[in-house]
Amino acid sequence: MYSIFDLFKVGVGPSSSHTVGPMIAAYRFANDCVDQISRERNGPPIARVRIQLYGSLALTGAGHATDVAIIAGLSGCLPDRTDPDAIQATVRNVRETKQLKLADQNYVAFSERNDLLWLTKETLPQHPNAIQFQAFSSAGECVFEDQYFSTGGGFVYSRREFRDQFQTQPNRSERLELDTVPYPFTSAKELIELCRREGLAIDALIQINELSKRTSEEIEARLNLLWDVMSDCIEKGCRASGILPGALHVPRRAPKIFRTLAANDEGLGSPQRSNLEQARPTTQLLASATRGTYVDPLQQLDWVSLFALAVNEENAAGGRVVTAPTNGAAGIIPAVLAYYVYFYPGADQAGVYRFLKTAGAIGLLYKRNASLSAAEMGCQGEVGVACSMAAAGLAACMGGTVEQIENAAEIGMEHNLGLTCDPIGGLVQVPCIERNTMGATKAINAARLAVLYGDGKHFVSLDKVIETMRQTGVDMQVKYKETSLGGLAVNVVDC
Ligand code: SF4
Repeated sequence: MYSIFDLFKVGVGPSSSHTVGPMIAAYRFANDCVDQISRERNGPPIARVRIQLYGSLALTGAGHATDVAIIAGLSGCLPDRTDPDAIQATVRNVRETKQLKLADQNYVAFSERNDLLWLTKETLPQHPNAIQFQAFSSAGECVFEDQYFSTGGGFVYSRREFRDQFQTQPNRSERLELDTVPYPFTSAKELIELCRREGLAIDALIQINELSKRTSEEIEARLNLLWDVMSDCIEKGCRASGILPGALHVPRRAPKIFRTLAANDEGLGSPQRSNLEQARPTTQLLASATRGTYVDPLQQLDWVSLFALAVNEENAAGGRVVTAPTNGAAGIIPAVLAYYVYFYPGADQAGVYRFLKTAGAIGLLYKRNASLSAAEMGCQGEVGVACSMAAAGLAACMGGTVEQIENAAEIGMEHNLGLTCDPIGGLVQVPCIERNTMGATKAINAARLAVLYGDGKHFVSLDKVIETMRQTGVDMQVKYKETSLGGLAVNVVDC
């Protein structure tokens, strides 16, 4: 069974399936290739590599920085380990010198025009996000090759892994994985029954499962890192200014909104938020700026929208974000978690952990029973899933029962069903950035409806809504699934 830390990953913008996944795939290919050649002592040295991008990766990869990701990954960069500025510098150097240091070890000539091919009219049968890598000797002989599939949320599978996981003996590897944790679950129904039987909250059950893979100190350190990166990203997005990369010339909105909101709140005190500092790291900028009382009671929602805008503008600029569970939807969970930290009475560090573990449990259900890939599900698989996860996380922090949490998660998705993916110009900007504000506020509304005004009994179960999302994704026309061939992408001209 996947860990919640497979879902929440530190990455770089702008896309988990088109940037993070391809960078990991390129890194793995380069290292496997160099390892194999060094094992075969008389193996011919690699003179050239060729990369072919298929399907959605070819159609929207240019706007999603797939080219940057591939070059960086082949050069030894990884999304969680390499600073975003270092990634850009590495790619600049490859483009200037037309040489690439494969796996940061062997130099090979690299002509982007001839060696990185965008096959916009071709799709591999396994998955819409496919990459073919080949390495050639100086005699032009292909000495190593593999295919990779980027299935959303930064998950990547080689050809063999994909076959084992999805094509041969379905559920076998998942079943083996399930057996490795104390409380395996494959559906929301199973999760609820386990919690009832064992008398555990969802986050407590996840903690026990995670303890079978790592120590409690490691779990805490990873959760702290996730919230650190999320809150740093919010703060960076509030401070940055200027125009986002790409042909749309979209100006950043977060800094101006931040200044407006902070000015409105200046000098006002609110005792109910006196314990905010307990929830680390509460960046000084936001901790002081959000400490106000409001003439307009909806101003807290303006802050939530700001948090989401700030993260997604950083994501669009190729900055450091947490994939949660994708990059296009990376603003929703941080925005709702920041709402909890900065505005919810009694918020504390334990609540931050409870939020992330509960949201992670819900995300695992979507990963297992549907998909996090917009190329398969449309935007319901990104913004919809993040909204559902965030609603569950907040419901847990509000003291919701297991049933109320499941209800919050279900509401969060039910009203995102059918949401298409139609990014203008293939950039993760319009409608993506603003859409995260809608996802975040909807998640808060879902949690409040479920916990404050519901008793956990409801009409549509989370399992039914996940299956409905999956079926809707399968039935959705390809042009609405991260191809930029339909919707806003064709009705609004990028210039
Ligand atoms: S429209 Fe939604 S799914 Fe598509 S790129 Fe934007 S955020 Fe991602």
